[in-house]
Amino acid sequence: MGSTGSIVLLSPHCDDIAYSLGGSLAAAKLPLERCQIHTVFTRSVYCPFGELPETDVDGITALRLAEDHRFAEEVGVAVNHYDLPEPLLRGGYPSLESILVSRDRASCDPILDAAREVMLRIKRDRGPSCVFSPLAVGGHADHWIVRLAAESVFEGMIVYYEDLPYAGYFGEDRLAGELRSLPPRSQAIILPDDGWIEKKLALLKVYKSQIAPSDIAAVIASARRIGGERVWFRDVSAAAAAGIAPQRQEA
Ligand SMILES: [Zn+2]
Repeated sequence: MGSTGSIVLLSPHCDDIAYSLGGSLAAAKLPLERCQIHTVFTRSVYCPFGELPETDVDGITALRLAEDHRFAEEVGVAVNHYDLPEPLLRGGYPSLESILVSRDRASCDPILDAAREVMLRIKRDRGPSCVFSPLAVGGHADHWIVRLAAESVFEGMIVYYEDLPYAGYFGEDRLAGELRSLPPRSQAIILPDDGWIEKKLALLKVYKSQIAPSDIAAVIASARRIGGERVWFRDVSAAAAAGIAPQRQEA
């Protein structure tokens, strides 16, 4: 399908694409007319700044979906939502801390089957030529599950993005350790910040039920360190299908 197929941007939650690729979308570093955001885990009780009781699943879910719609509208990209429940709603995760896990632990979560079904549906209905997946920096269970499900369905099509704000909280050594989960011989591409950072920060404010000042600081720190937003790929054809050219050497 080359450079005519759709570009699927997998977002574990409402806000992940804005965090990790929001600058590149704001500055049209990706071909917006071919991009589609697909947000997988939308049933939520997480709403630290939303003034809703944490038992109000429907209210919190609706608020977060509305934020995601508004972001997509602002950047001019289509968005699709699936209704998988976040860890605190599906059992096996007794606390917020417990949702940060290893790849092995995530691979045993029964919700992985439902995530694979979502990926198969996207593949069948959208026929993507490139799929952006979270790398799962920071180890959020849902980020791992989206990555594992994507890897089982979209072989040879994946470009990984570094999960923010998590990556922005880590020092160089910790981040280098997290990047070791990449497939062997992965290469990086930096989508440079040529003045989009203020626009990105403005777009992140759309998610006001979610984002703390420290998260914004982590986004800024990451953009400064990297010089933009960084993505990784093993298959050159995947990066080529997204219209982004390699600039850096092997990991
Ligand atoms: Zn997330």
